[in-house]
Amino acid sequence: MTQSCDAFAAALLVWFDQNGRKHLPWQKMRTPYRVWVSEIMLQQTQVGTVIPYFERFVARFPDVEALAAAEQDEVLHLWSGLGYYSRARNLHAAARRVVTEHRGKLPTDIDAWQSLPGIGRSTAGAILALSRGKRHPILDGNVKRVLCRYHGIETWAGESETGKALWVLAESHTPKRRLAAYTQAIMDLGATVCVRQQPRCRACPLRRGCSAFLNRATDAIPAPRPKKPRPLRRTRFLILRDQDQAVLLERRPPSGVWGGLWGFPECPVEADPARTCAERFGLKPSGASYLKPRQHGFTHFRLQIEPVLLDVNADANADRIMEARSVLWYKGASSNRLGLAAPVGRILGELPPRAGG
Ligand code: SF4
Repeated sequence: MTQSCDAFAAALLVWFDQNGRKHLPWQKMRTPYRVWVSEIMLQQTQVGTVIPYFERFVARFPDVEALAAAEQDEVLHLWSGLGYYSRARNLHAAARRVVTEHRGKLPTDIDAWQSLPGIGRSTAGAILALSRGKRHPILDGNVKRVLCRYHGIETWAGESETGKALWVLAESHTPKRRLAAYTQAIMDLGATVCVRQQPRCRACPLRRGCSAFLNRATDAIPAPRPKKPRPLRRTRFLILRDQDQAVLLERRPPSGVWGGLWGFPECPVEADPARTCAERFGLKPSGASYLKPRQHGFTHFRLQIEPVLLDVNADANADRIMEARSVLWYKGASSNRLGLAAPVGRILGELPPRAGG
């Protein structure tokens, strides 16, 4: 049973009054400009790292006009070591837009903020709530974790439907008063109590209504980003072996999987191997042995290889058919030094001997 929305915000505010961070550099002289710079720096970077960068940055660029007038090189120089330099480039570009499009006045409505480079809904909401006390929810990574645990949301927060549900919850929890304190409180709780590993639930003001705490599910929530399943493709390797134990190999096209290497001819797994062999190479196999399938992993898919061994008697007619193709009879590494696709080399080493060979 979760606490009511009012109880959620009320508990957080009581906790914030006693435990929240109130002396960070951007909390002094809390102008929209300083809050904006801090919010951008705090994306993907811890508070302790940000503080000296923030102080140097606002000392050099105390307002949006100073930032807009700067050379990009100098902005990037002051950002050096913070990483994610697109943040600095966007901040600089946004400052120039504020000067040209808003006559140097920082926006007071959320849509105008969100139209600036590098500013999404959560950052825009945080700037307006923290600097102007406007009622806008935020949903950064820390807040998502708190809300997922509190409400027992087991799906990945990056999933579109889950994201929409989280925004609704964030909105419903946002109080009507003390917006700056509430916004700082939920960010602080996520950063210092409801941390990813081993959250400090005993010290948390939300524990009485927290689903993950009550159900001992804090290890499982929030759900990690699901690993994208790689699709499985199937192919048939046709291993044509002649009476001299030589195996037919084909050079693969220059681009694509194993581009330019040598491999067995392939066909769809649904095709009849003996007929394919006859149609493509003019050879009639005396028998077909289906070898153990194996899988090979590529970055974007897995390949199920289903090899079939076809013993054939190569003759002059077959050689003539094959003349125009990039094929050869392979008699082992001692006679042909070829670049072989990895599974092809392994399969060659495992072929059973030809009966009567
Ligand atoms: S009780 Fe634990 S899991 Fe729940 S919000 Fe608090 S710290 Fe997070």
